[in-house]
Amino acid sequence: MAPTAATSQPIVVSGPSGSGKSTLLKRLFDAYPGKFGLSVSHTTRAPRQGEQDGREYNFTTKEKFLKLVHEGGFIEHAQFGSNLYGTSVQTVKDVAEEGRICVLDIEMEGVKSVKKTDLNPRFVFLQPPSVEILEQRLRGRGTDKEEAIQERLKQAKHEIEYAKQPGAHDKIIVNDDLETAWREFREFCVPNEG
Ligand code: ADP
Ligand code: 5GP
Repeated sequence: MAPTAATSQPIVVSGPSGSGKSTLLKRLFDAYPGKFGLSVSHTTRAPRQGEQDGREYNFTTKEKFLKLVHEGGFIEHAQFGSNLYGTSVQTVKDVAEEGRICVLDIEMEGVKSVKKTDLNPRFVFLQPPSVEILEQRLRGRGTDKEEAIQERLKQAKHEIEYAKQPGAHDKIIVNDDLETAWREFREFCVPNEG
């Protein structure tokens, strides 16, 4: 069957840091090889253990990032904590040229910016069961220093408030039980299956 407009639209996944975006995206990419492609963002933050340049992010310097901003190389970009993050025009183009559905993992300001472009994606928000549980998960992940955890928790409250606005996202998934969240996430990303 030919893909419907809905299934070829890009997908924007957002949600507080620690809400489970990477966990669910990894499942999605593993479950549907070749179907989806991650829009690999640029960031000025340092790589975490296990992250590879060009795979999770294009790790770059502030100078190079700002140069690319100046050249109009980003669809959207934002500051998160003390770091810059952005979706380059090139990364989205690369994914489209591979014939894959482009998936963006971006924060709230990026979501708002993307809404003003002609990308026309579908928006899914991953919500933690509570800020307390989010804090436990961020600490359990063991990748962020105390200051970064505090910044992420502060930002999480803004993201959760924004998600309450009507029409902010097409779907909100509460990531409490992982298997339940995965089922809902898969159904959103691959709506015509089954
Ligand atoms: P994000 O990509 O949104 O920052 P992660 O996918 O890294 O979040 O998840 C943050 C932490 O929470 C990880 O250690 C992950 O294993 C854990 N986690 C994700 N979903 C659940 C869940 N439903 N129940 C318990 N732990 C979870
Ligand atoms: P992390 O440092 O945990 O990988 O990401 C921090 C936040 O930045 C997350 O909310 C993530 O979705 C967001 N992010 C990652 N890439 C981009 C991007 O290209 N643009 C925007 N606006 N946010 C991004």
